[in-house]
Amino acid sequence: MTETKAVVIGAGIGGLALAIRLQTAGIATTIVEARDQPGGRAAFRRLEGYTFDTGPAAIADPAPLTALWALAGDDMAAAVTLLPVDPGYRCHWPDGAVLDLADDEALRAEIGRRAPGDAAGYRKLRDHAAALRREGLDQPFADAAALLRAAPWVVRHQAWRSVHSTVARFVGDEKLRQALSFGTLLAGGNPMTANAAALRPGSEGEAWCVAGGTNRLIAALAALFERRGGTIRLGDAAVRIETLGDRVTAVETASGWRTDCAMLGANCDMIHACRDLLAGSAAAARTAARLERKRQAPSVFALHFGIKGTWPGIPHRTILFGERYEEALSDTFGHGLLAADFPLFLDHPSVTDPSLAPPGCSTFRAFALVPHLGKFPEDWRRIAPLIEQRVLDVLERRLIPEVRERIVTGFSYSPADFVGDFNAYLGSAFGPEPLPAEGTWFAARNRDAAIGNLYFVGAGAHPRGGWAGALESAHSAADLMLGRG
Ligand SMILES: Cc1cc2nc3c(=O)[nH]c(=O)nc-3n(C[C@H](O)[C@H](O)[C@H](O)COP(=O)(O)OP(=O)(O)OC[C@H]3O[C@@H](n4cnc5c(N)ncnc54)[C@H](O)[C@@H]3O)c2cc1C
Repeated sequence: MTETKAVVIGAGIGGLALAIRLQTAGIATTIVEARDQPGGRAAFRRLEGYTFDTGPAAIADPAPLTALWALAGDDMAAAVTLLPVDPGYRCHWPDGAVLDLADDEALRAEIGRRAPGDAAGYRKLRDHAAALRREGLDQPFADAAALLRAAPWVVRHQAWRSVHSTVARFVGDEKLRQALSFGTLLAGGNPMTANAAALRPGSEGEAWCVAGGTNRLIAALAALFERRGGTIRLGDAAVRIETLGDRVTAVETASGWRTDCAMLGANCDMIHACRDLLAGSAAAARTAARLERKRQAPSVFALHFGIKGTWPGIPHRTILFGERYEEALSDTFGHGLLAADFPLFLDHPSVTDPSLAPPGCSTFRAFALVPHLGKFPEDWRRIAPLIEQRVLDVLERRLIPEVRERIVTGFSYSPADFVGDFNAYLGSAFGPEPLPAEGTWFAARNRDAAIGNLYFVGAGAHPRGGWAGALESAHSAADLMLGRG
């Protein structure tokens, strides 16, 4: 172990993955986490025998996690048990139509049944998206010259297109278009405007969950990091990042703990890091101002509830589309309106893992994207009970009769909680919105332009996009920090 010291602010999935990579490479690493549990947005609560995960209810691709464990010389299978989620997603429309996203073969069969004319288009779409991702992620487009060099590639692949318009190029059936594009929402992107680099058509169909909940995976990652010699300081928020010239020199926390560091990974909200924690740095103030000008992704309103009875007919994950799609997305992303018919996501993890609820009972979470506090600056203590009733109305009408009478326990989670719990700018649940001009390829870099040893990691940093993006960003940031980038 060298004397090089790194601090990572935030124990979200990106922060944990970065810290494991650094620690494994011989950098003595400390994670400073404000909350009393690791996981960030992938947190959890236990109430009356029900386990409620507040972040992702399933994992699309365990490979990056398996690779992380292997890098640290350990075996993920020995630490957590993955259970297949089948189907990966169910799409449900107001007219009663249902489409299950499962593995590729099952999805092709389903498309053959409901929209045979789109079977060939779907195959082409898969190939096209794979090429975009493969080549796009290799193109960090760090400067104007890189952009120019990439121009022929961008033109050839029509890489400026949005997720939905790319799907629509290949697939004609509108329901199928929705089913193949909604996944962007789970990373805070509007399928109508998010860059097609975010497109993984049908990938929601193949999913795994962790026995005991996503929180078990987080706990296992934290334990892996500590086994490798790393330190996690829970419940001790960073309050100040000290700089000298263009270098970070030390970090101080709320308890008064302070440490020098050779490099810093910020997994917390980037604007919080630059504006609040680096308050004395003019360079950071400029970065914060630039980030504040970016459009932020919406927030989330979630209703977690434990109910009596089991519901084997309701799969692990369902999306309940509303009457409108594009218009409802514009209301949320553009106009800052609470759309009554925004797609409602319903997670039912206890159908795969009954240990998440008491015997004969079920754990559910319904959530919708809602405008962030910059677009909808309302008092959520007043709004939340109203939205809660709206959500229960939809569920009662479409899936769970008399749901209100069956509820044993639960809680809701609103944009104000994202500010209070995570210092999230404007209460966004996902950070900057992936736009055509600011999508994956143009995301905030992993290294600050002015402060040379300040790195950004997480779903808001390059290459962007939810859980998978946070893991990928830990890889990029670690490569830069270890001099491999
Ligand atoms: C309801 C919901 C469902 C979702 N579903 C999916 C899904 O299906 N698929 C998917 O890919 N993604 C999903 N996501 C998104 C995913 O959860 C996030 O993108 C991911 O967890 C973000 O990880 P992160 O590493 O960026 O950091 P975060 O989780 O944001 O963690 C940042 C950490 O920094 C800490 N912090 C902040 N300020 C300080 C400070 N001053 N000092 C110390 N620590 C600080 C915070 O407490 C937090 O722990 C979902 C999110 C939500 C809310």
